[in-house]
Amino acid sequence: MIPSGLKKVHLKKAAAEIDLNGAPKDRESVHYDLVLRGKLYPPKYVISLAQGYATGEDLPARSFSAVEAKNYFIGRGYTVIDRRHDALQKVAPEDEESSFPEGAAIYRLHRHLERDGAISRKAKAKRLAETGKLECEVCQFDFVARYGSIGNGFIEAHHKTHVSKNLGTAKTKASDLALVCSNCHRMLHTSKNGLSIEELRAHVTKTRA
Ligand SMILES: [Zn+2]
Ligand SMILES: [Zn+2]
Repeated sequence: MIPSGLKKVHLKKAAAEIDLNGAPKDRESVHYDLVLRGKLYPPKYVISLAQGYATGEDLPARSFSAVEAKNYFIGRGYTVIDRRHDALQKVAPEDEESSFPEGAAIYRLHRHLERDGAISRKAKAKRLAETGKLECEVCQFDFVARYGSIGNGFIEAHHKTHVSKNLGTAKTKASDLALVCSNCHRMLHTSKNGLSIEELRAHVTKTRA
């Protein structure tokens, strides 16, 4: 149960405290974000802190649910975002062709160049000789480290020339290929304008931090 004695001033103080100190890892919200002055806050933690300001005693997290917290704020006219709805809105189409505005033919050419057995084998063999493993160039994923022996020798080749006039006319060289894990490969192809290896790596680094 959420006590009824919370006032706006207590909620404001709670938000100010979160602005200052952030929320502890175990108090970050999973599904909901409370929107206050354009910023996002974990609704449950706001209520706990507000209760602390109202009574001098924080409300334990387990004494009310996330849904109660969400309803509490919505009932008072606040905006609460459900991240699951947000994610659903953004669910990407699975066909990678759509990342090639130039059309299906260019997409097929790109995939063909990446899959060209001889060139990609050469790139992989070179990498193995140099580093002793086949790690994703974006996220360092290693199929052997994750899957053991069935991951042996597995990595995907991505043609770094997303769409260009050169694609298809110039012969693909091993150096045109980046070696990436399947997830990163999909992400490289999901972006409308085609992310570069460096751009995707920057996303991964930023997200990990
Ligand atoms: Zn990867
Ligand atoms: Zn690719």
